[in-house]
Amino acid sequence: MSKNGLHYHIKWSGKPARDWERFDTSAESEASARQLARPGETYTVEEHGESCPQCMKFMKMVSGRDNNEAST
Ligand SMILES: [Zn+2]
Repeated sequence: MSKNGLHYHIKWSGKPARDWERFDTSAESEASARQLARPGETYTVEEHGESCPQCMKFMKMVSGRDNNEAST
């Protein structure tokens, strides 16, 4: 955990499915964004604190998927 729960997300113009990825530093997120960016795709790096909507969204996604997994 970084101080104050601060972390970063890349906000993509074209693929919001990746927005949940979190990084501890803005440099880390920038480097990853540069690798993943397609030509013409734009992104912004956002700084978030403890109550982060992106992380909450992802947690909901994960728990939702697990609960709906077909049972035997
Ligand atoms: Zn987050």
